[in-house]
Amino acid sequence: MDDAILEQAVAIGVKLADHRLIRSSEGNLSLRRDENSFLITPSGSKIHALNQSDFVAVEFDGSHSKNHRPSSEWRFHQDIYRTQGEAQAIIHTHSEYATALACLREDLPAFHYMVAIAGGDRIKCCDYALFGSEELSSNILAALEDRKACLIANHGLIAWGRSLDEAYTIALEIESLCKQYLIARSTGLVCLLSDEEMQQVIEKFQDYRINKLQFESKGVLNG
Ligand code: 13P
Ligand code: ZN
Repeated sequence: MDDAILEQAVAIGVKLADHRLIRSSEGNLSLRRDENSFLITPSGSKIHALNQSDFVAVEFDGSHSKNHRPSSEWRFHQDIYRTQGEAQAIIHTHSEYATALACLREDLPAFHYMVAIAGGDRIKCCDYALFGSEELSSNILAALEDRKACLIANHGLIAWGRSLDEAYTIALEIESLCKQYLIARSTGLVCLLSDEEMQQVIEKFQDYRINKLQFESKGVLNG
């Protein structure tokens, strides 16, 4: 695999820690390696202190390189790569506001047009299951249908992208949206956008997001 991509993964690990999206080892990230394998952070690793050589290669048959034990969540990372052909990177966090909403077992509704960043009119919260389990993976896949992100009940957030930068951008934005939503809801009755209004946003995003991501891939917009 291209060293530049692993270098970017290490740098994104630092940014995830700096933005408090992942504290210590509460979360993980992975990169597609080829058609039948991916690279993932080791279980229990500190996201801000990763080296390129720490990433564990996991084959779709479940075997893995022996440098470290792969993240306990390798199964849902694998199942997302298997079912979402476009996915090149996945980020999983226990970030504070997304997790707070996930503990209410509620979807993030269309309270702000940016909810469409994940591809739909809401961010779904998947059903609860034990971390690392096959059941959790199938619950996540159901909530990710036509979406690039979902909340995980009593657990956290997951986002995938066509690049690591896109997965990071989506995770960062959703954490911020969950914060805005919880603040708005704690102070009043939130006005939701209608199905029609969200449909207009989703259509407009087809062009708008592509343009924005071109800048992000050059590092011009993404902090
Ligand atoms: P790992 O350290 O095994 O990746 O576990 C962190 C996590 O977020 C489990 O859900
Ligand atoms: Zn987790």
